[in-house]
Amino acid sequence: MALQSKPYMALLNERTIIVAIVFTLALMWSFGQLSFLGAVIVSGVSASCLVQLSVRRRFEELEARRAAIQKRKRAKRPTSVSIRAKALDQLPSPFMLIDSDHRIVVANLAAKDLLGEDIVGNDATFYLRQVEFITALEKVLSGPGSDFQVVRYTNSKDRIFDVTVAAIPHRKSDEQQPEAVLFFYEVTSLIRAEQMRADFVANASHELRTPLTSILGFIETLIGPAADDKDAHGRFLGIMQTEAERMVRLIDDLLSLSRIEMTRYVAPEMEVDLKKLIVNTVSTIQPAAAARNIKMECNISENLAHIRGDGDQLTQVFINLLSNASKYCDPDSTLHISATPTLDNKRIHVNIRDEGPGIPQEHLARLTERFYRVDTARSRKMGGTGLGLAIVKHILLRHDTSLDIKSEVGKGTEFSFRLPIAQKPSE
Ligand code: ADP
Repeated sequence: MALQSKPYMALLNERTIIVAIVFTLALMWSFGQLSFLGAVIVSGVSASCLVQLSVRRRFEELEARRAAIQKRKRAKRPTSVSIRAKALDQLPSPFMLIDSDHRIVVANLAAKDLLGEDIVGNDATFYLRQVEFITALEKVLSGPGSDFQVVRYTNSKDRIFDVTVAAIPHRKSDEQQPEAVLFFYEVTSLIRAEQMRADFVANASHELRTPLTSILGFIETLIGPAADDKDAHGRFLGIMQTEAERMVRLIDDLLSLSRIEMTRYVAPEMEVDLKKLIVNTVSTIQPAAAARNIKMECNISENLAHIRGDGDQLTQVFINLLSNASKYCDPDSTLHISATPTLDNKRIHVNIRDEGPGIPQEHLARLTERFYRVDTARSRKMGGTGLGLAIVKHILLRHDTSLDIKSEVGKGTEFSFRLPIAQKPSE
């Protein structure tokens, strides 16, 4: 500041000067060294000097204050560097700048979340240790010829990224060392979906191949060694029929699964009489259940409200769950089916409980996966496709509810879900 750079000005303030001048004039006048007129002239000149001095001082003060305000403003104003850093932090994908010594110069928030809070200043190869990555980085930093490379990187939490390692072009006149940018593009869900599709095709092919192999085997036997065996003909043709029917069921299930998936995000708009639908389904399953002496007990509220849904798809839900229960339940047991409104009267709570063998806890979470079975051999023997619960899950998701499964080994299994009650037009 101006005042601080001239400390003598503070000592020489106006009051000191006036006192000094008046004292000097009085001294000179008392010794007869100064006439009255001379004193007046000297006083006038001194007063004018003092006024000038004080005006100058005021100006200096104002100038110092203005400079201080500007300095404060400049400190507050973001520089272009800090704006760029903030913009990079907004990027959801990790981004890093690497210098010629492989050191991380800049890393945005997403990169710090992925690799660690204090990565800046450290060697990038310490975090991305794959050989392909180090090779790509060296190629890109080695100069012209290799502008960018893409490397796949998987972190310890099984997140998968395609990392683009690109050179930053500098003008020839620049004497700057080569640098590289690293941009991470997450592909975890894409890879998982790809893997699921591949698994699904492999499983479906395997499921179809098993009965087909068996049918072909029986045909060969019927043409060859058992050509004249009338008993074998009847037996083998019966098995072939069962296997062919299983293939048809499997194809039907695959088709309905793909149809359901196509309508997954289209909310069902029909008004469905749930009570009627349950009663009809129970009578469809009744013969199969009766064959194993399984009783079906329904507890459905009187005047059960209609629900909003897709009648055909919901029929498939009940058929799959009730036929599973009647397939896997012990003979002479009872199947309990209930449908009651929830307390807030917005949904119908459906519960299907059997007194069967139950399912061990470790299987429950995976039960609705396609082709997942607790006991594959038993399911196949019962004519199961392994798709029944997957179909139920997808239909219920479309109906804005999920399938809850509770089970206790030796006691039975309980399936439940909540369907939305259809709104009356006035509501
Ligand atoms: P599947 O065609 O094999 O019946 P699902 O998807 O319908 O296929 O069922 C998957 C598996 O869940 C079945 O293989 C069976 O092991 C088990 N499961 C389903 N429902 C029941 C039940 N009510 N009691 C015991 N196990 C069941």
